[in-house]
Amino acid sequence: MSELTSLTIAEARDKLRAKEITATDLTAAYLSAIEAANGALNAYIKVTSDKALDMAKASDARIAAGNAGALEGIPLGIKDLFGTEGVHTQACSHILDGFEPRYESTVTQNLWNDGAVMLGKLNMDEFAMGSSNETSHYGPVINPWRATGSNQQLVPGGSSGGSAAAVAAHLCAGATATDTGGSIRQPAAFTGTVGIKPTYGRCSRWGVVAFASSLDQAGPIARDVRDAAILLKSMASVDAKDTTSVDLPVPHYEASLGQSLKGMKIGIPNEYRVDGMPEEIEKLWQQGIAWLKDAGAEIVNISLPHTRYALPAYYIVAPAEASSNLARYDGVRYGLRVDGKDIADMYEKTRAAGFGTEVKRRIMIGTYVLSAGYYDAYYLQAQKVRTLIKRDFELAFHAGVDAILTPATPSSAFGVADEDLAADPVKMYLNDIFTVTVNMAGLPGIAVPAGLDKKGLPLGLQLIGKPFDEETLFKTAHVIEQAAGKFSPAKWW
Ligand code: GLN
Repeated sequence: MSELTSLTIAEARDKLRAKEITATDLTAAYLSAIEAANGALNAYIKVTSDKALDMAKASDARIAAGNAGALEGIPLGIKDLFGTEGVHTQACSHILDGFEPRYESTVTQNLWNDGAVMLGKLNMDEFAMGSSNETSHYGPVINPWRATGSNQQLVPGGSSGGSAAAVAAHLCAGATATDTGGSIRQPAAFTGTVGIKPTYGRCSRWGVVAFASSLDQAGPIARDVRDAAILLKSMASVDAKDTTSVDLPVPHYEASLGQSLKGMKIGIPNEYRVDGMPEEIEKLWQQGIAWLKDAGAEIVNISLPHTRYALPAYYIVAPAEASSNLARYDGVRYGLRVDGKDIADMYEKTRAAGFGTEVKRRIMIGTYVLSAGYYDAYYLQAQKVRTLIKRDFELAFHAGVDAILTPATPSSAFGVADEDLAADPVKMYLNDIFTVTVNMAGLPGIAVPAGLDKKGLPLGLQLIGKPFDEETLFKTAHVIEQAAGKFSPAKWW
């Protein structure tokens, strides 16, 4: 890892402004780091070297002219779910073969408007469905972390596994990601990085390939809390092209770092425990509580009684919306086409060849729960449960709680091609047990690394906030980060 790629976004920004380094050198350093590492990690599925160097050159010119944007010259990786004009955008699916949109997603456009540089597109679970980045058409991403003394390949989490691995291995300064049920926070926790899923409506979903539209949110994965705050500030905006985006000013998130926690109330929900959860996770949680107490926060026990229904309800609502969103991939306008004897046969053959097993499973579940006769029993019921989950949080916040502290995941990173998990998809879904409630309620949630387990792998804590109160999450996560320190994998790639 060269010096340049070890700089955080905040450090690189300051050095670029002071003209101690150039965006061109910084970008070139990342491009060579990617070239050296990607064979082992498979984090990037497309590297846009020429574009990156062109953008960096333009950044250097703007810096020279005194016109630097907030992210001027900062090289970023972009999850393959974001539409990027003229550049590979396939949600890591075979069915979108060759798709290069003629538009740019609002979130990525916001980043380029602020001067950021695109290094390429990052690997992910197909259509963002998964928790291990193993459903990608481009093969699994390998976690840069390994257990102490072991060569076993571990997953980086999913679905934003490429984003998390690239950030942890310093193959970009920061990355975009998306979170429908935990896909920013779980991979962040598995890789010792920081990931925030902002409030539903904080970032525009326009130009982002849809998975479950009422749950999907974009957010950053970064090396530390400050960098996550810097990235979210640029990504977030109201957008006429997404009517669910919210017209509220985007705060200067970085300014909330270092603020006191005095007078804050942190809720600890009793329900965020599962059978077989390693003792170390419970211990880490208690450690997190102690850190926040030391920083002046008051700790209160709270109850979120409908938590236990969140996972089953999510795995009805999310597939239902996915089955509808994915109906558009039919081989007619773009992507893969497998010819058939007539148009119905062409649709069938295209979809059979184009979608992977997990995506097909979701489409079938979704179609089933929305079908006449089952709609009331499953979909409608799940929507009611969703309202109750949301109300649990509202009651806690109404009682004066400012933020809620929980573990981010029920385990540390697991092995690639784990037989147990492959045999039972529901076991894989259990990864999302602490994160899906937040999407169901539309709330912001941040995962911050808090320690290593006895295998030497990172573990994260999650903070959940009130709608549009990301600032409280940043300042509280920053306190945890300061107490816990930062974590980087030992380089083997
Ligand atoms: N792991 C969850 C799923 O597979 C969440 C995915 C996501 O947040 N995109 O649905």
